Amino acid sequence: MPREYQVQGVPVSDLARRYGTPFFVYDGQVLHDRFHGLRRRLHSAVEIFYSLKANPNVSVCALLRSFGARAEISSLVELRTARRAGVAPEDIIFLGPGKSRQELAACLDEGVFAIVCESFPELALVDELARDRGVRAPVALRINPSFAVKRSGLAMGGKPRQFGIDEEQVFAEAGLAGRFPGVEVIGVHVYMGTRILEEDVVVENTTRILELAERVAAHLAVPLRMVDVGGGLGVDYFSGETGLDPAVLAGKLDPVIAGFTARHPGTRLIMEVGRYLTAESGTYVVAVRYVKTSMGERFAVADGGTNHHMAAVGIGSFVKRNFPMAVLNRLDEPATEDWNITGPLCTPNDTLGKKVPLPPVRAGDLIGVLRSGAYGPTASPVLFLSHGYPAEVLVHEGRPHLIRERDLPEDLMARQRLYDPAEPDPAARNATDIVP
Ligand SMILES: *Cc1c(COP(=O)(O)O)cnc(C)c1O
Repeated sequence: MPREYQVQGVPVSDLARRYGTPFFVYDGQVLHDRFHGLRRRLHSAVEIFYSLKANPNVSVCALLRSFGARAEISSLVELRTARRAGVAPEDIIFLGPGKSRQELAACLDEGVFAIVCESFPELALVDELARDRGVRAPVALRINPSFAVKRSGLAMGGKPRQFGIDEEQVFAEAGLAGRFPGVEVIGVHVYMGTRILEEDVVVENTTRILELAERVAAHLAVPLRMVDVGGGLGVDYFSGETGLDPAVLAGKLDPVIAGFTARHPGTRLIMEVGRYLTAESGTYVVAVRYVKTSMGERFAVADGGTNHHMAAVGIGSFVKRNFPMAVLNRLDEPATEDWNITGPLCTPNDTLGKKVPLPPVRAGDLIGVLRSGAYGPTASPVLFLSHGYPAEVLVHEGRPHLIRERDLPEDLMARQRLYDPAEPDPAARNATDIVP
C-alpha cells in the first residue's frame, strides 16, 4: 500500500470518497498548535483577535474562539459569523474603509467593543447613528501613519491609502471629540502591512504604533482604552522563506509590551492575526481528471484550480513561485518529473503549480496544495465559469466534519431570472445605503 496523506489519521482518499472533490480540509490540531504556539509565548497583555477575512468559515472561527481568540471583522456576515461562533460582542472589533450604514448600525446594536473608523465622514455617520440611539459609540481611530517600516510585506499604511485617517490630519484637528458628541474615542488602530516574515519588523511596527497611540491620545485628550497594533504575521509559503519564530518574536516584543502596560495598565492591547493562524492547517485537495503533454511539458488537469485558490497563482511576485504541493495518495514515490497542475478554467492563468517536481501523475490522483487554510475560496473567483464554492471539511479530535457544503448547479441557478416581457419586474433585493 502506498503511503497516503492523512489528517489526524483520516486518509485523504476517505475524505474524497465521502465529500467528493475538490475540497478544503482543515486540521483542528494544527489550528490549536498555531494559536497556542503564539498565545503561550506572547505577553499576556496582548489579546489575539482572529481576522475572519483569512478564513471566514464559522466552524474555523468557533474552534479558534474555543482556544481563546477574539474576532476582528469587516462585514455584516462576518459579524453574524463571529456571533454564531460564540464570540462575545466585547471581544469583537469591526473595521474596513467602506462600512455601510447597516453595518455600523449592527455594530451599535450588537454592542461590539470598538468600531474602527477610517475617515471623517465615517465618524460623522457613526455619530449620527449613535445619537439616534441615545448611545455613545466606542470608536478607535485607524491612523495611516506618516512613517513606513521597511519590509512590512504588502504595505497598508505609510503611503496614500484608502485606509485610516492620515496622522497629519488627526494632529491638525483640534477638538475632534467635541465635534462628534455621539462618538467616544477609545483608542487607536494601525495596520502597517501583511505577510511579514521578520520578527524585528513586527517589533519595530509595534513600538512605533504604541508611541503614536500615546501621542494621539495626548493630543485628543482621551484615555487610551485600547491600542490595536495590527499584526501582519506572515507564513512561509515558498522555498527559501523562513517562517516567524513565535518564541523569538515574543522575546523581542515582550519588553516593548511590558513598558507600555506599565504606563497604561488598563489598556487593551490587540493584535490582529489571520493567515498566521489558519494557513498551515488547510489543504486544498483536487482530483486529476486528465494528464497530457504539450510541447514537451507535462500537464495534470484537475477538477479544481485557481477558482478556489487564487493565491496559488502567486499574486505580487514576478516569477511564479509554487505553494508546497504533493500527490497525496502516493507520498512515498520520489519526485522524478516536473508537472504543471492546472484547473478547469478556460484561462492559462488557471495554474495551481508550474513545473512542480512530483512523481509520475495519473488520472484519479489526489493532489494537495498545502498551507492553504487562509485566503482560499473566499479570496478567489469561485463563480468563474460557474463552478461555485468547494466543500470544506474540518478534522477535529480524529473525526471529519463537513463545515461547508459545495455549491450545486441548482444553488447557482437559483439566483438568476430568465427575462420575461410578460412578467412585471420584481423589486431587487436592495441593500443599498444611498438615500437621495
Ligand atoms: C487583512 C487584514 C488583517 C489580516 O491579515 P493577515 O495577513 O491574514 O494576518 C488584519 N488586519 C487588517 C486591518 C487587515 O486588512
